[in-house]
Amino acid sequence: MLPVERQNRIKSLMQEREHMKISELSQELNVSEMTIHRDLKPLIDQEYVIKTFGGVTLSQHLQKSPPSQEVCVICQRDINERLAYRLILPNNQIEMACCAHCGLMRHRQLSGNVIQAICHDFLKHTTISAPDTWYVMDTSINIGCCQPQVLTFEQKNDAEKFIKGFGGQIYTFEEAVTAVHEKMDCPSCHQHE
Ligand SMILES: [Zn+2]
Ligand SMILES: [Zn+2]
Repeated sequence: MLPVERQNRIKSLMQEREHMKISELSQELNVSEMTIHRDLKPLIDQEYVIKTFGGVTLSQHLQKSPPSQEVCVICQRDINERLAYRLILPNNQIEMACCAHCGLMRHRQLSGNVIQAICHDFLKHTTISAPDTWYVMDTSINIGCCQPQVLTFEQKNDAEKFIKGFGGQIYTFEEAVTAVHEKMDCPSCHQHE
């Protein structure tokens, strides 16, 4: 194999696995570790891969999945910033929930210990303080997160317009906390995955 062929092979291996040891590469390509080091040099210079202890890692911007992101404190889903519900606790601790559904459940669990909670307007993506948010449940639109779904709006006006189009009911913060809790506790309408 020509060096350029080996480099292409290294590139495809790195795309696939994202992290590899020099010893693994040397085995895969059936050449010495010295040769691997030589082959890697231009790839490191191009910032295609980054040198790590004993190996290489695919450059961050080439990686398919961003490095281990935060997950929801309730259901362990990946956090999608647009739906996320952030709980600010004493000592600058922050907990993230994937959506208002999990956020409100967590908020209820922690009750008095939450200093502040923040979510996002479903349409405008603006930041809203959770107690000032209007919550919409039982709507027909699928946001692809937890069931029963909870959508968040900054303006009651927007929430009203939204339910005209997509159905559902509007709740205040307190009402939404109770509603999520009750819907989750009722075995007959228990829809959580
Ligand atoms: Zn969750
Ligand atoms: Zn969720």
